Amino acid sequence: MKNTTTAQSAVWHPYTQMQTAGRFPLIVKGEGAWLFDEDGNKYLDAVSSWWTNLHGHAHPRIAAAIAAQAKQLEHVIFAGFTHQPAEELAHRLLQHIPYHTKVFYSDNGSTAVEAAIKMALQYWANRGEKRNKIIAFRDAYHGDTFGAMSVSARGVFTNAFSSLLFDVAFIDTPNGSNTDEVRGQLLAALSAVDVAAFIFEPLVLGSAGMLMYDAEVLNALIGICKENGVLAIADEVMTGFGRTGKFLATDHCTNKPDIICLSKGITGGFLPFAATTCTATVYNAFLSDDKAKMLFHGHSYTGNPLGCAAALASLTVFETDNTLAKIERIAECHAGFALRLKLLPAAAKVRQQGTILALDLKTTDEGYLSGIRDKAYNYFLGRGIILRPLGNVIYILPPYCISEPELGLVYTAIEDFCRSL
Ligand code: PMP
Repeated sequence: MKNTTTAQSAVWHPYTQMQTAGRFPLIVKGEGAWLFDEDGNKYLDAVSSWWTNLHGHAHPRIAAAIAAQAKQLEHVIFAGFTHQPAEELAHRLLQHIPYHTKVFYSDNGSTAVEAAIKMALQYWANRGEKRNKIIAFRDAYHGDTFGAMSVSARGVFTNAFSSLLFDVAFIDTPNGSNTDEVRGQLLAALSAVDVAAFIFEPLVLGSAGMLMYDAEVLNALIGICKENGVLAIADEVMTGFGRTGKFLATDHCTNKPDIICLSKGITGGFLPFAATTCTATVYNAFLSDDKAKMLFHGHSYTGNPLGCAAALASLTVFETDNTLAKIERIAECHAGFALRLKLLPAAAKVRQQGTILALDLKTTDEGYLSGIRDKAYNYFLGRGIILRPLGNVIYILPPYCISEPELGLVYTAIEDFCRSL
């Protein structure tokens, strides 16, 4: 089928103003860091297709693992049954999270967060304590379902739904110069009797515009939760699987979260899949002779064998293909480019955590709906590069297979755009 304009198509695209959307490239193939459209144009995927891809598009080892699994067992109800890929994946994920003992599967980042929130709330309910309040960062983004929206920033993403979102205790997002205030706000929020959990994006608040803060601050905040007996939930949906230089962003901390949400990179970017992991303490609160204490959550595709097979293959590539060295090389290249960026008058607040590099474009209308966003997006697309600015924030979040010359193409395009302003 030939590509049509978005207006003629029957498809409603996510996060898209359909009225003004032009013709979207029809992608027919992916290889390495590149995507190819029906007209033979190619695009360098510098945002890992919404932060999902780790090792490159259509990676042959992951593709082969999915194909083999599909011929064996495509799916089975995951209540009352189990299967080898799910068992093996849980075991291998926990090797990277040795302080956790259980893995709960779901389908995407939002459901990983929903499961985490419900786990935390029912943990307290099962223990007979009435704790319903969640603490979150004021700029947080945790997903698009109602629970995940509730613990996210009140703003452009949630305005239409705000009256239906549950009440959350928001504290300021750390910004490098407000550490004492943030600690004080967390302590004040914790002094209420009904706090169940603190949920956070570790080191990088992605959708808020790649806001970054130090591991030292995060470590202190998790420590305060521990001292106050409140659950710490790390939303590693974006930061997991190496993005910040270590396997998890919370690996930069000595204090560990009680619950971790994983998705996006978990299958190497191949399939919708997620996991919520937890400590033995959290899990044990659900063990009872009373059936009503089971975790009341699950989706039709929970533990899907194809997702598990993709995740296992992706983990193997991660562990055996020098992935951490590739991550380090990207981080070094970014650090060099950051120095160049700091010389450009149009760029402000240049920042980096591992493989994620971000800058603010100086403009009078900041924020997600900034007018400069489309100009920048179209400029980069015209140069065959996929960069999807969050308003006036340009960021690079590449797949780990990206080469230095390919990174160079992205860097030059950003420099040229900044100089054109
Ligand atoms: N948490 C974080 C930190 C995210 O960045 C995202 C997605 N951008 C989500 C949750 C939601 O994930 P999904 O889009 O897969 O539902």
